[in-house]
Amino acid sequence: MTSVDAAIIGGGVSGLTAAHALREAGHDVLVLERQVCPGGNAISERIGGFLMEHGPSTVNHSMAGIAYLAESLGLGRARTDLGPNVRKRFLTKGGRLAGIGLHPLAFLTSGYLSLAGRARLAAELWQPRGDRGAGETVAEFARRRFGAEFAERVFDPLVAGMFAGDAARTELGFVMPALAAMEHAHGSLIAAILRARLTGARMPARQLSSWRDGIGTLPRALALSLGGAVKTAVPVRRIDRARQGFVIDAGPRGHLHARAVIIATQPHVAAHLLAPLAPRAADECARIAAPPLAVIFLGYRRDRIAHPLNGLGYLTPGCEARVVNGALFCSTMFAGRAPADHVAISAYVGGARAPDHARLPAQELIDIVRAEFADLIGADGAPVVARIRHWPRGLPQFEPGHSRLVARLKQALCETPGVFVTGNYLCGVSVGACADAALDTGQRVSRYLGQAPYEDTAHARPRAVAGGPATPP
Ligand SMILES: Cc1cc2nc3c(=O)[nH]c(=O)nc-3n(C[C@H](O)[C@H](O)[C@H](O)COP(=O)(O)OP(=O)(O)OC[C@H]3O[C@@H](n4cnc5c(N)ncnc54)[C@H](O)[C@@H]3O)c2cc1C
Repeated sequence: MTSVDAAIIGGGVSGLTAAHALREAGHDVLVLERQVCPGGNAISERIGGFLMEHGPSTVNHSMAGIAYLAESLGLGRARTDLGPNVRKRFLTKGGRLAGIGLHPLAFLTSGYLSLAGRARLAAELWQPRGDRGAGETVAEFARRRFGAEFAERVFDPLVAGMFAGDAARTELGFVMPALAAMEHAHGSLIAAILRARLTGARMPARQLSSWRDGIGTLPRALALSLGGAVKTAVPVRRIDRARQGFVIDAGPRGHLHARAVIIATQPHVAAHLLAPLAPRAADECARIAAPPLAVIFLGYRRDRIAHPLNGLGYLTPGCEARVVNGALFCSTMFAGRAPADHVAISAYVGGARAPDHARLPAQELIDIVRAEFADLIGADGAPVVARIRHWPRGLPQFEPGHSRLVARLKQALCETPGVFVTGNYLCGVSVGACADAALDTGQRVSRYLGQAPYEDTAHARPRAVAGGPATPP
C-alpha cells in the first residue's frame, strides 16, 4: 500500500495550497481530487477570445497568502490588475441602474436613497454603540446603524453579491469583523472613515486583481508544481484510523496509508468523511448550508450594448424582486476577457436569497439573463457566446452562530490527532482567506508530523517547519 506523510482530500485552492506548504517543508504529500481537473471553484475557461470565470473573478493580492503563492510560483508577470474604468458600482432601483462612486459620502449625494433614507444615514454619526454581540446579523447591524433603507438597498445586495448570502441570516462578526471592530473602537463608522481620510490614515488595502488567464492560473500553477503528487478523478470514500495514521479508501485507486490527513472539501463531504473519525466535528460540518448558485456568462458585440459598462458591475437588492442577484462587467474589469469590439458579462443567480432560481434549466436562465440585460443595460439581440455553470452547492452560509460552530468544530477535532480540516467554511469565502488558512494548516500539519511517533525507518522523516508545538486544527 502506498504510504505518505499527508494525504490531502480535495484539490481546490485550499487543498493544493496546504499541499504546497507541506511540500515546501519537505514532506511527502498526495492530493486526491474527485474531479478530472484540480481547482475546485477556481475554474477559468477560454471560449474563443472570451474568458469565463466559472467561480472567483478576483483575488486580493494584498493578502499574505496570495502574495506568497504568486511569488513562489512565479506568477508575477501574469498578474493583471483591475482596469481604469471600475471605480463606479451600480445598484438596481425601479428597473434602472444607479451609479455610485467609491467615496463614503457618495450615498449622501447620489440620489439612490430617498431624502429620509439619506437623513437617517447621516444620523449614523450619533447612533450609540450596540451590544447585540456575536449573534447579530448583517441586516440587524445595518438597520441599527444606518437605517432600514440603507440596510435593504445597500447591505442586502452586498451580502448577496459577496457571499451568495441573505443579510438577514448572515453573522456580521464572521463575514465583516472589521465593521464590528470599528463600531466597538469608534462608535460611528462614518466618523471613523472620515477621520481616517482627513488624517491620511490608511484603511486596509485591497488590491483586487487576477492573472492573464484568469483565477484558474493559481490552482493550475500549484498542481503543476506538485506534479505527480496530485491525483485527479479520485473520489475519496472513507477514512479509517490505522496503526500510526489512517487508511484512505480512494475508490478505483485502491487504498493508501497516510500519517496525517487534511480534509479540504466542501463541508457536506467533510461531514461524511469525518463521521467515523470525529462524529462531533462531522455533526458541526453537516449543519452548514451551501445553497445552489448559477453563473451565466454572456458575450456580446460591443455595439449591441447601449450602456457604457463603466464600472465593476451591478448588484440588485432583494426588494427589487429580480432573478439575477447581480452581474460583473468582466471585460471592463480586466483586459483580454473578450475579443476586440466585444464585451463579456457574468450574471449570478441563486444562493441563499433564492436557491430555486439556480436550479432552473440552462436555457431558461440564459433567457432570463438576456431579458434582464436588455432591460438594464440595453442589450440588443442575441449574445455571441452564452455559457452556464451550475454549482449545486455554491458557497457555505455563515448563519448566526457560525463563529461558535467553527470553535466547536475545532475543539472536537482536538480529540482526533492527525486529522485536519481546511476550507472556505472555516475561514471565509475569499480565495485569499482560503490560501492564508491553508498555509496555516500546512504548517500545523508539518509540526504534527515532526512530533508524531513514527517507526518506519525506511521512510525518512522530513524536516518540520519552524514553529511551536502541534496545535489542534
Ligand atoms: C460563483 C463563485 C464566485 C466566486 N467569486 C469569488 C471572487 O470573486 N473572489 C474570491 O476571492 N472568491 C470567490 N469565490 C469563492 C472562492 O472561489 C471559494 O471560496 C474557494 O475557491 C474555495 O476553495 P476550497 O479549496 O476551499 O473549496 P473548493 O473549491 O470547493 O474545493 C474543494 C475540492 O474538494 C473536492 N472534493 C469534494 N469531495 C471530494 C472527495 N470525496 N474526494 C476527493 N475530492 C473531493 C472537490 O471536487 C473540490 O475540487 C467564488 C465562488 C463561487 C462559487
